[in-house]
Amino acid sequence: MIRINCDLCGKNEDNLARALIEGVELDVCAACSKFGKIIQPIKRPNPKEQHQKIMQRAEPKEEKTELLIENYADLIKKRRETMGLSQKDFAFRISEKESLVHHMETDHFTPSIPMARKLEKILGVKLVEEYEEKHETSGKNKKEDGFTLGDFIKIKR
Ligand SMILES: [Zn+2]
Repeated sequence: MIRINCDLCGKNEDNLARALIEGVELDVCAACSKFGKIIQPIKRPNPKEQHQKIMQRAEPKEEKTELLIENYADLIKKRRETMGLSQKDFAFRISEKESLVHHMETDHFTPSIPMARKLEKILGVKLVEEYEEKHETSGKNKKEDGFTLGDFIKIKR
């Protein structure tokens, strides 16, 4: 099989991901991927072997991932209207630009988690959901690897 080592720390990892770190594309391990932006998890050449490796590797760990709810844009708009605020008024309340409120409500701008938290307080609605991820040792439902998009959103913000 092809052995792949992390380009950054040199560790032999079965779960490398292609990441953009300081403008350079590198194949890195999970720990090193946090220094950059994940482009894609590396596809293993042999699916059977991949499955086996993942099962061996899986460790139980818990992670909390915070994600915006899917319909945050609609919800923000509805609540703002219910409160009788124009986009301009609302923008003033949250100390942001009116255009940003517009973009948020039309789903063209995704607020960061801290920002969504602020909006939650002002609007009195829940916009952020917390997911507790448990990585079990069985590997039963594991397909790719331990990465989720949420993990990296959390890291970047
Ligand atoms: Zn590494």
